[in-house]
Amino acid sequence: MPEQIDQLIVGGEILTQNSIGERIIDGALAISGEKIVAVGSREDLLARYQAKETIDVSGKVVLPGLVNAHTHAAMTIFRGIADDIPLEPWLRKIWPLELKFATEENVALGTEIAFAEMIRGGTTTAADMYWHYQTIIDTAKKVGFRLATGIGVLEALYEESKEILKNRICEYIETYQHDELITPCTLIHSTYTVGRETLLLVRQISQEYGVVFMTHAAESRAELKDVLEQTGKTPINYLEELGMLSSNSLLAHGVHLDDNEIRLLAERKTSIAHCPSSNLKLGSGIARVADLLANGVNVAIGTDGCASNNNLDMWEEMHLASLVQKGVNFDPTVLPAEQVLYMATMGGAKALNLDDKIGSLEAGKQADLIIVDLNSLHTTPVFDAASHLVFTSKASDVEATMIAGRWQMRDKKLLTIDEEGKKDEIRQLAEMIKQEL
Ligand SMILES: [Zn+2]
Repeated sequence: MPEQIDQLIVGGEILTQNSIGERIIDGALAISGEKIVAVGSREDLLARYQAKETIDVSGKVVLPGLVNAHTHAAMTIFRGIADDIPLEPWLRKIWPLELKFATEENVALGTEIAFAEMIRGGTTTAADMYWHYQTIIDTAKKVGFRLATGIGVLEALYEESKEILKNRICEYIETYQHDELITPCTLIHSTYTVGRETLLLVRQISQEYGVVFMTHAAESRAELKDVLEQTGKTPINYLEELGMLSSNSLLAHGVHLDDNEIRLLAERKTSIAHCPSSNLKLGSGIARVADLLANGVNVAIGTDGCASNNNLDMWEEMHLASLVQKGVNFDPTVLPAEQVLYMATMGGAKALNLDDKIGSLEAGKQADLIIVDLNSLHTTPVFDAASHLVFTSKASDVEATMIAGRWQMRDKKLLTIDEEGKKDEIRQLAEMIKQEL
């Protein structure tokens, strides 16, 4: 008797992203509840399982949902507001606007718009840094989006005592540490925005709970200079001195690294969230991704926020990540398609310590997956699906997105977000923001 399950996805090519990079032509996936029950050939799974719904994806590609390893989701409300300036004046322009407009209500709106954009583009997990963490989490739970985030510690904004701050962070982690969708992390904006004592407190909490610590690090030359002046060390060496480089550390950017720092990151098993669009757009520089990978550092991919990108499109990031490295290294063999796909799936999962749960399509893991149509003009013909996904596919080629066994988008229609309604709301907010510019 075939086993009863909820959903069976059959046909198409499955890029499992498992440890041997297995691809299954004319494959199938069995799903029950929020989990993958089995991955195999169509013939085998059709014989073993009886599903409430069977979905035929012949001619399409199934792969794990993409992991956006660094973003500020709510910043969709500031999309395209500060172009063509470097990071520091950019921050000086954005911060006053945030103080005025990043209210709980607007953060909820911006975050929901971001989730809509990410789901449309096949992103199923994001590592987010922003204010009003509770609002962001509530929005993620409402939509059904997988999110890693924390209480953003930015010294100037927290006048509370260290003890109160500690209790608040600990309580937050305890509330969400077993949550199905939310991964609690510790986070600070950067080493130059908080003092040593606060950094040590964050380290202590991170170690105590074994949670991922996220921060921006080695992003720009100005940051390097400031941190050097303040501490006598580069951002990476300062984090090392504080004991904040570990397998639970996820550093956004890592653009300005010397050979010793790259070796140190490898030794500490620290992950980098590479954000090529943001680094290029802000003129921050080009991260040494090929060198990081060659030294064994886990590199994930992120979009950064919408005010420095200006979208949340992981396909553009994958494409850029590969092409820019080939160019600056004068070497077309670096960052081949399969490696870039790994970075955007398992690389991100590892960076968030979620690789036992997401990042690949394997029995027992969460059913976070996407279906990509390769029948468009720009993806025809197909010789190699992985090549197409990195070098020619677009976010708009994603046809369906599932998170934890629940469809978030099918036939390119969002199922959990009122897209048109949210677009109207954000247009109205933009009119108010324009008055301040
Ligand atoms: Zn950022």
